[in-house]
Amino acid sequence: MSKLPFCPCTDTSCQFNPANHDRGCDLCVEDSLKCGEIPKCFFLKVTDSIEGFEDWSFEHFAKLTLKQ
Ligand code: SF4
Repeated sequence: MSKLPFCPCTDTSCQFNPANHDRGCDLCVEDSLKCGEIPKCFFLKVTDSIEGFEDWSFEHFAKLTLKQ
């Protein structure tokens, strides 16, 4: 169990946070796919800050990507 250096997730109460298990990104990606969402670390590739974001949809990610 260790925090991944590039993972932006600070919510360690989340069962999928890599700090809470030894499966790396697997559980986060699996849950994101089930929910139709993109993991937060991908958003940080297309925007400087994700503070206040609540929409992790493919659509939101695409809009931010196209704005670049
Ligand atoms: S996929 Fe999820 S767990 Fe892995 S670095 Fe990105 S946000 Fe963190």
